[in-house]
Amino acid sequence: MLLNSCYDKEIGRLPCIVTCAFTDINGPHDAVILTTEPAWRVVKDIGINPHQLLYVTGNTERSMAALAETCKGEVVYGIGGGLAIDTAKYVASANGLPLIALPTILSTDAFLTDATGVRENGCVRYLPTKAPDTVIIDMDMLGNAPIAMRASGAADVLSIATALWDWQKAEEMGANPPGQQMMPQTIAIGRTLLQTLLENATEIGNGTPTGLKILLDLLCMEVQLCNLCGHSRVEEGSEHHFVYAIEKHLTSANIGKVLHGELVGLGILLMAALQSQPWEQYRHALECLHINYRPTVIAREAIAETLVNLSDYVVQHELPYTVATTLRITNDIAEQTIQTVMD
Ligand SMILES: [Zn+2]
Repeated sequence: MLLNSCYDKEIGRLPCIVTCAFTDINGPHDAVILTTEPAWRVVKDIGINPHQLLYVTGNTERSMAALAETCKGEVVYGIGGGLAIDTAKYVASANGLPLIALPTILSTDAFLTDATGVRENGCVRYLPTKAPDTVIIDMDMLGNAPIAMRASGAADVLSIATALWDWQKAEEMGANPPGQQMMPQTIAIGRTLLQTLLENATEIGNGTPTGLKILLDLLCMEVQLCNLCGHSRVEEGSEHHFVYAIEKHLTSANIGKVLHGELVGLGILLMAALQSQPWEQYRHALECLHINYRPTVIAREAIAETLVNLSDYVVQHELPYTVATTLRITNDIAEQTIQTVMD
C-alpha cells in the first residue's frame, strides 16, 4: 500500500488527562518531584512520598540541566505552574523518564506541550523536550487557586486574536517560511477557539467547574492545533514577542510577582491597538477573566521603551514576521497606545 501522507512527521499529541483529587493519588516511592515552594505547600496532603524533592531554581537551560543531573528516580512529577512543569519536562526528557504533571493552576498551556521555554540572551527559546505522559487535573484545586491567577492561562488562548492577525499579515506579505504557510481551516479553527473564549470569559473568570472545564478544553484544542501545524504561530505573535522583550525589565526579586498571562494580556491589548483591531472586546474579556493587564511591577516607562525598541528586538532575535516587524513605533505612538489601552 502506498501511503501518500501530507504530514512529513509525526504529529505531537496531547497527554493522557486524568481527573482525580490530588489527595487520592498513590504515588510510587521512587518519584522525583519538581516543584516550587508555594506549589508544594498547596499540595501538602498529596499521596506521594518523594524519593527526591527538587525545587525549581531558574528559567535558563543551565539551571534546568543542573537539576536534571541530580535527578535519581524512576518517574518524574512536575507540580505547580508553567515553570515547574516546563522544568519537569526538561528533567524527564534528559533522563528518559516518564512524566506526570500536576498543574496547581491553569496559568499557561505548558502542562500540555512537548517543549520547554528557556530564557537565553534576553529572549525565549523552546527546546524540544517531552509532553507529560499523564496530566492529573484536580478541579477543586484549580477552582481554589487565587482569583487573579485561576484563569490566567486563558491569555494563551486570547493571544490567538493578535497572533492570527500577525500570521495572516505575514502571509499577505509573502513572509511565511516554508512549512508555516497559512491554511484556511487553521484560521477557522483558531477563530472558533477565540470566539468560544470570548463568549465564556465570565464563566471561566468565575472559576466554576464548567468554566474551568471550558478553559481546559480550549487549552487542549489550542495546543493540538499547534501540534497539527508543527509551530505556534496561531497563538504566538507580537503579543508574546512583547512579553519576551519586556521580561528584561523584571528584577529577580519581582519576576515571581507577575504571571505570564498578565504580561500576555497587556501585550494583546497593545498589539491589537497597533493592529487597529477592536481591542476593547479583548480588554473586556481580560476583565471578566480577572487577568490583571496592568501589572504593577512593570513601570510605564519600561512598557514604552519596550514598544519603541520592539522592531529592533524582533529582528535581532530573528522572530517571525508580525506587526512589530514593520511598524515603526515612535515615542508618541507608544505613549498614545499605552494610554489608550491602559487608562
Ligand atoms: Zn504563552
